Amino acid sequence: MHWVDTVAQALMKERPNVEHVVASGTSISGAIHIGNAGDVIMAEGICRAIRKLGGKARLIWISDDMDPFRKVPMGFPPEFNKYLGFPVSSLPCPKREHCESFVKHCVDEFMHSLAEIGVRPEVYSGTKMYKEGMYENEAKKALENADKVRKILKEISGTEKKEDWLPFDPVCSRCGRIATTHSYKYENGKVHYKCIGGVAGKQKIEGCGNVGESDLRNGKLAWRVEWAARWKILGVTCEPFGKEHAAAGGSYDTSKVICEDIFGYKPPHPVIYEHILVGGAKMSKSLGNIISVDDMLRVAPPEIMRFFFFRTKATKHKDFDITKDLVKLIEDYEHVERLYFGVDKPSPQEDLEELKRSYELSQIEENRIPERYFQVPFRHMSVVAQITKDYEDRVRILKRTGHVPEQMSSWEDERLKKKFQVVDNWLGIYATEQDKFSIQEKLPSGVIESLSDAQRRTVLEIADKLKDSNWDAETIHNTIHNVATTSGLGPKDTFTAMYKLLLGKDRGPKLGYFLSILDKKFIIDRLYAIKNNKDKE
Ligand SMILES: [Zn+2]
Ligand SMILES: [Zn+2]
Repeated sequence: MHWVDTVAQALMKERPNVEHVVASGTSISGAIHIGNAGDVIMAEGICRAIRKLGGKARLIWISDDMDPFRKVPMGFPPEFNKYLGFPVSSLPCPKREHCESFVKHCVDEFMHSLAEIGVRPEVYSGTKMYKEGMYENEAKKALENADKVRKILKEISGTEKKEDWLPFDPVCSRCGRIATTHSYKYENGKVHYKCIGGVAGKQKIEGCGNVGESDLRNGKLAWRVEWAARWKILGVTCEPFGKEHAAAGGSYDTSKVICEDIFGYKPPHPVIYEHILVGGAKMSKSLGNIISVDDMLRVAPPEIMRFFFFRTKATKHKDFDITKDLVKLIEDYEHVERLYFGVDKPSPQEDLEELKRSYELSQIEENRIPERYFQVPFRHMSVVAQITKDYEDRVRILKRTGHVPEQMSSWEDERLKKKFQVVDNWLGIYATEQDKFSIQEKLPSGVIESLSDAQRRTVLEIADKLKDSNWDAETIHNTIHNVATTSGLGPKDTFTAMYKLLLGKDRGPKLGYFLSILDKKFIIDRLYAIKNNKDKE
């Protein structure tokens, strides 16, 4: 069974007859990458699985924007340094007049790309939740039970807090920072604090020395308490999170007990996932290896982003380098699509049911599977794209080679057009020299001279055979292969000779298909150029 269905089944059993709330959240520290997108995409899949079982489910996403700003992301205006330690919700847009705030800037872009892949959560802002008093009751409970909270922290996580520690950090009324305040007393609904300084990320930040008191709407609960509180407040029943929160004595273990003992709420069903690495390294702004959902959408069909998360278990290690692994990922998806429609047969290692389910979950709209098999492989398209000028030309070729039906539905036409757009982008951004080629309209000089006698003889024999044969990929492939073998030259040197004559380089796309989409007369003439050259000698 697919893991989302296993989770959904457990949820329906744990809490029957409730509307499930599957939550995820991210702290805002600049562009939101595919690692952060993972938990909300997985959460959306779980919602679908609950509904498939006849249950009800809501998807929510929380922007942790009351958290302090810890580090200025690369490429940000240097004056952002002065905001370290402020709640991120108080920062302006990094592009100045572009929009009203840093958080809006990051979240809008993220939500826009999520919508493209069919993920449309209800969005909550941590800051807004505090300001509107949503946290008030729980904050009060946590502060009244500060001793108990301290004890839980010590017992579960081994963290020892000072006697006067309180689980609430107010925003300083004078300087506006949140990372610098130290609260020492809770009395009559007010938290008393001093702005003594603190740490944001790795940087020490000076406090302003202010002594003040704060209500429970202008500050935030300590992380593990806040997590537990919002489960209760939002009625969260399931939440995917990275494995760093799942360690023994880690945040989940601690928040779970706080949730039960302080707030009297049954903690959500945890779904633990493995973080994405890029070439073995964590994604980080300073390494410049961040991949955003937008980056993916630019060079791959939208289903691919979903497939990335649903093709394997959440706990499976995911290493992904967009420059090297993208085409393989797309080809894996295309294979699963062929399995789904019975075009490919599964290998003994493949779990057909699970793969089919991952295909369903990769579709952008819930319960909307393509009515019929319609697929032009990415690789084929990348070849066609390089020898054509416009979309009509491309469609003409694909119809001729039977890759698309004579009558495409408007949906199919739209899909094909969009897929060509991403293929073009991929060719412009990530394709290597090996992926790219250009047809040499004129015979490159010196090529014929560079061929061996055996190569020339073999190519001429191929030309003789192809001249009168059918112009389809399979026939062309078989003809070349047969001649290469019987002539004794072998396929490798034969292919090299052909590529040199057509592309002026040693390698190129798979020859049978490649030649079949080119003009037959052009190819035959080019191969016979060897003979003409000989005549000239
Ligand atoms: Zn902006
Ligand atoms: Zn201050």
